[in-house]
Amino acid sequence: MAQGLIRRSDVDLVRERSRLDEVVSEHVTLRSAGIGSMKGLCPFHDEKTPSFNIRPQLGHWHCFGCGEGGDVISFVQKVSHLSFVEAVEMLAGRYGVQLHYEDSAGGKGDRPDFGTRRRLIDAHAIAEEYFREQLRGPAAEVGRRFLTERGFDQDAADHFGVGFAPEGWDSLTGVLRSRGFTEAELTASGLVSQGQRGVYDRFRGRLVWPIRDITGNTIGFGARRLLESDKGPKYLNTPETAIYHKSSVLYGLDIARKAISSQHRVVVVEGYTDVMAAHLAGVTTAVASCGTAFGAEHVKIVRRVMGDSNPSAGLRLNTDGRGLAGEVVFTFDGDAAGQKAALRAFEEDQRFVAQTYVAVEASGMDPCELRIAQGDQAVRDLIETRRPLFEFAIRTAISQVDLDTVEGQVTALRMAAPVVARIRDRAMRPEYARRLSGWLGMDEATVLRAVHDAARSQ
Ligand SMILES: [Zn+2]
Repeated sequence: MAQGLIRRSDVDLVRERSRLDEVVSEHVTLRSAGIGSMKGLCPFHDEKTPSFNIRPQLGHWHCFGCGEGGDVISFVQKVSHLSFVEAVEMLAGRYGVQLHYEDSAGGKGDRPDFGTRRRLIDAHAIAEEYFREQLRGPAAEVGRRFLTERGFDQDAADHFGVGFAPEGWDSLTGVLRSRGFTEAELTASGLVSQGQRGVYDRFRGRLVWPIRDITGNTIGFGARRLLESDKGPKYLNTPETAIYHKSSVLYGLDIARKAISSQHRVVVVEGYTDVMAAHLAGVTTAVASCGTAFGAEHVKIVRRVMGDSNPSAGLRLNTDGRGLAGEVVFTFDGDAAGQKAALRAFEEDQRFVAQTYVAVEASGMDPCELRIAQGDQAVRDLIETRRPLFEFAIRTAISQVDLDTVEGQVTALRMAAPVVARIRDRAMRPEYARRLSGWLGMDEATVLRAVHDAARSQ
């Protein structure tokens, strides 16, 4: 039924002009799979070896794993959770096809307003432009000072699109209303909050970072408190909307995507300023989750972008080169919360854990602080000090104990054995038990027995 809205010949033109390989590449790292064919990890089911195939010339895709398949429009629908009309509109905008709409009475006309998604993205583009303008005004002095103190000049602010949301209640709301956005659209955008007497600006007196989807559309904002009078949280983010889902959003992914794909590595940092500092320091694979911990959905996304597909790579220990399977490097600051987050990663798929590394700065500085204190090279060096997550977890468990005494050794073994026992990979567990015996200065057989006992009681 919805399909009748767009003229059929326009839909055909969209299908013809859209480049399937280009569109798919934004979500899946593709490699050649013979003449006229490419393959990668399926974005629609969880897999370790690629069974997702496309034929760019024919405009067809098919997954031999889950059986999904179709054309470029159905791919966009499925991967971005869009309706048919929204997917056609998105592709039409991208490939320059002018759409014509037929209303239910059979008449023809150009509909200026695309689907909801298009409207929400337009609202965010206007908001971003507005916030960026505001950052240059006198009221934004406090925001500019915040950036300067963290080593970011105007060029850096421009590069990342950083802006300033003024203090008023209807500054942005007024701008959007004047551009024809309805109250319902404002509410759906997440840019406003609902009050007793209507909607008002959600972000007030804050520095704002545009959060973009992988194709570069701004879909939300992260906002940092600046004023004493602001009793809200330090960071305030866009709530869940039709286009913003925090469980799958990664700040910086749009600019990091190419580097992640070519280096088979992603660096996960903790905040907007850390992403900025990392990129400016030359670590162009840095991303951060927004207002939530790095979770299972984020894992799936970075794996797809890395093109992670080597089933045996998880068995390799501590290689110096970059693994074929890709590396995920977490840069937690040294505090307990960061370490807890690292250990929580144990709950994830263990093959992912085997690719996971941790880089912690000795004095507990995050990448932004490190760049201010010691410069760009220090940030790049920090990433190179990464240790495997397993090793980090084991060493964390024994770090509080004095290993110079027998009592200390026994206590440390008791604390670390359960950590090693949680390594489900049968090939890795004895290897880490062997290393643990080295770190503790105890004989291998004793450590192996302790790990074995711990595994049985788990
Ligand atoms: Zn599939």
